[in-house]
Amino acid sequence: MSKEMDFKFEKFEEYWGTAENVQKIMGHCRICGSKLLLSHLPDYKNLIVQETARCIDCGEGNRKVIHVLN
Ligand SMILES: [Zn+2]
Repeated sequence: MSKEMDFKFEKFEEYWGTAENVQKIMGHCRICGSKLLLSHLPDYKNLIVQETARCIDCGEGNRKVIHVLN
């Protein structure tokens, strides 16, 4: 679990600027700038939600974030 959290933290450190700016970066491919396809996969057994982002244009910019439900 700590591995995913580190990954998430690391990613967020790369973002800068206003919240609006961060949201803009998060919703778009970092490689080609296309809009990312976001999907959420709830895992109620482990109380997490897996969020995956995939670029349908270039296939790059894949992102996987684990949200922990408390
Ligand atoms: Zn792309």
